[in-house]
This record gives sequence, structure tokens and C-alpha cells, in this order.
Amino acid sequence: MPNEILIRNVYPADPDLAPQTRPRPTDILVRDGRIAAVEDGIQAPDAEVIEGDRAIAVAGMVDSHRHVWQTAIRGVAADWSLADYVREIRVGYATAYTPEHIYLANLAGALEALDTGVTTLCDFSHLMNSPAHAEAAIQGLTDAGIRGVFCYGFYDVPARERAFASHDDRLRHAEEVAQSFRATAGPLLDFGVALTEFGLVGPDVTDRELAFARRHDALITLHVGTFGSPHGIADLDRRGRLGPDMLHVHANMCGDDELERLVASGGGLSITPETEMQMGMGWPVTNRLIEAGGLPSFGVDIASNIGGDMLTQMRLALQTARAIDNQKVLDQGIVPDRIGLTVRDALRFGTEGGARAMRMGGEIGTLRKGARADIALFATGGLNMMPMGDPVAMLLLESRPGDAVTVLVDGRVVKRDGRMVGVDLAGLREKLDRAFGEIADRVAESRDTAAGSSNAYARVVKRATGTD
Ligand SMILES: [Zn+2]
Repeated sequence: MPNEILIRNVYPADPDLAPQTRPRPTDILVRDGRIAAVEDGIQAPDAEVIEGDRAIAVAGMVDSHRHVWQTAIRGVAADWSLADYVREIRVGYATAYTPEHIYLANLAGALEALDTGVTTLCDFSHLMNSPAHAEAAIQGLTDAGIRGVFCYGFYDVPARERAFASHDDRLRHAEEVAQSFRATAGPLLDFGVALTEFGLVGPDVTDRELAFARRHDALITLHVGTFGSPHGIADLDRRGRLGPDMLHVHANMCGDDELERLVASGGGLSITPETEMQMGMGWPVTNRLIEAGGLPSFGVDIASNIGGDMLTQMRLALQTARAIDNQKVLDQGIVPDRIGLTVRDALRFGTEGGARAMRMGGEIGTLRKGARADIALFATGGLNMMPMGDPVAMLLLESRPGDAVTVLVDGRVVKRDGRMVGVDLAGLREKLDRAFGEIADRVAESRDTAAGSSNAYARVVKRATGTD
């Protein structure tokens, strides 16, 4: 007998539907992990029923760029530039993590994502300090039950105890992880690769990382168009290395021609508006990517700085893109008559856009029949949601992340009636508080020895900021 869940009485927030001023609730049938129907009055006598109570139903949101391991050091980067971040985290906090710390961070970070209706993550995991760190990172995501791609980072963290003698050593370890991935990771996770930043390594090393990834048909994610690699896309294109298997991140310093090359290559782009604007990376390129014919996707980026929900990132990206467009008109001495981007565009980028960027287009990021049943219900009983208007507009600009009351991943309920299923929140809080303290203590100790100041990344920062 098929495994069925009937979600009753919900307003679908579907970017394909025209704006509705008086929306009518409908039903969603989930069968064997997929969306079987979205229509009125579904009869499914054997189905488990979830009473939607006029919640907004949206496809699980997709975060195409997050360093989930930083969930264990929340708040530290609140007033930092990107240069601060590199100095303090990439060559500082990163050196202090134990495998237990990255496990807890990945578990809690992925759970937080699910808690707010984000059902898929691209985890850029550049904290592979030892084989045990990799194992723990994968286990954390697996135990949380999130969908996603675990991207093995090759970055040479300047940890005190070095587990890898050389880059070749790392490649050998990555090979082991890739080989055993299907047996160790949960069924919702794929193996991917996070390239070492250009500028830290030469093109020969990048080529070895790329060859490894392509041998495994792994998603390749990389930071580009930021300091250290302002024209990384052009460089890759010149060397014939761009491809549809690439998920680029940021690209703020890239020229329009580079964005066109990215789009022509079939690769995706993750825009992380909040960190890009705070940390001095430049304006988010949402408008420019659309001009180039691309489909944006969004990411939270660093959990050491900001919350893990995607509503905030969609809002920031949308309003920033509108502001940039509007300013072009204002610069002509007139005021805009209309604005361009819509809430539907932003929702599409935060769902379908992420899915396509992660090579999961059609399978997730949509409420269409046949898609995997990754669905979030946002309650509409709060004062912020009265009276009920167009579901997409209400979700994007009126709702709160905490309104996510029920969340399904692959047809499995991970949050129900406002509570995460099977999660010991009090216990997790204790463990995370302890982990944060341990990491901070270890960082303070290593500060005395000035560890990391001679690291290649620290030198790149000095050059980029003109402080060398
Ligand atoms: Zn990043």
C-alpha cells in the first residue's frame, strides 16, 4: 500500500500562480515521498492527515551556499569585514574545531535550516582538518535528516596538529570519502567538492581538484569574483575549465562578460546578499545575472554571522536588486514609474533557482506534481498574517521564519505543529554552549603563539587590503 500524507486546507505559494487577492485553500497529496496532487477536495481515506489550518504551503527552500560548520560560533562575525573574517575564522577559529564540534555544528545548523522551512543545503565544508572531521561533518548532516550536498573542502586549514602532510594526501583522503560516501551518508545527501580559493593555490592544484571532482561527477562549488580571485570566472574560461557542474558563489567583482560566460557554461551562481553587503564584497549581482540570462539562487553563507532562514536572504536580495534598478532611474532625474523584480521572482530564485544550481531542478524547489515532497507550511494565524492576501506576497514580505510550523523532507515530517520531531533541543543547547566555549578557549591559546599569521590566506588578505 502506498504511503500517503494528505495536507489539507493550505494556500500554495507557487511562483507560477498569478497573484490572488482572495486566495482559496486547497489540498496537497503526498504519495511515497512525492507530490501526487495539488487540488481541491482530495479524497485519500488511508492517508495520514495533516490539517493545514490555512497555512501557506511552499516548496522547501534551497540554500545554495552555507558553511554549516560555523553554526558553533554564532555571532562572532557580526561586525566583521571579509578581511576580518579570513583573519579570525579561516586561519583562527577553524584551527580550533574538534570532530565533535563540527558534528554538533552541522547537526544544529541543518536542524535550524529545517526549522525555518529550508529543506536543502549546499554545505561548503572547508574544515577538513582530519579524516575524523569529515566523518563527523557528514554524520551531523545525516542525523539532521536534511537534503543536500556535502562539499568536501580542500582548503589547508592551518591547524596545530596537521593530519595531512600535503595536498596529495588530502586528495587521497577525499577519494576515500567519495568512495565510501553512499554507504556512510544518508540517502538525501550527495557528495560534492569545494575548491580551494584561487590565490591560495596555483592553477595546477585547482586542476587536480577539478579532475578529482569530475572523475566522481561531483558538484563543484567555488568562491569567485571576490578578493583573491576577482576574475576567477574569466581565468577558468580561458583555461577551458568552466562547466555545468559548477556552483559559483558571490561573483561581485566579476564583469558582465564573466557573468555571461558563467551562464553560457550552464553553471549556477549563489548570491549571499547579507554577507556580501556587510563584509565589503560588493553589490549582490542578482540584477546583473538576470541581465546575463541566468537564474539566481541564494545562500546564507556564514552561520557565524547571521540566522539560517532563507526568507531573510530572499527579502534582502529582492529589495537590494530593486534599489539598484530604481537608482538607475533616479540618476536620470526622474522617479521610477514601476519596479521590475517581483516577489514571485524572489521566491523562484530561493526555491527553483537553488534546485537548478545544485543540479536538482524539477526534483525539488517546486510544488508541481511529481516533485519530491519537500514542503514547508507557514502558519497564518499570527497578527502579521491578518488579513490573508496573496500567498506569495504574504510569505515573502509579511511572514516570519518562526511561522514555519510543519516541514516535510522527501515526504517525511521533520517538524510538526511548531516542534522539531525527535530533537532534544535542551540537550543540544547544552552541548553547543560547551562547544562554543571550548573553541573560544582554544582560539585564545593559539593567539598567543600567533599561529596562522604566516598562513597563505593571511598573506592574501594583506595584499588585498593594502596592509602588507
Ligand atoms: Zn562562502
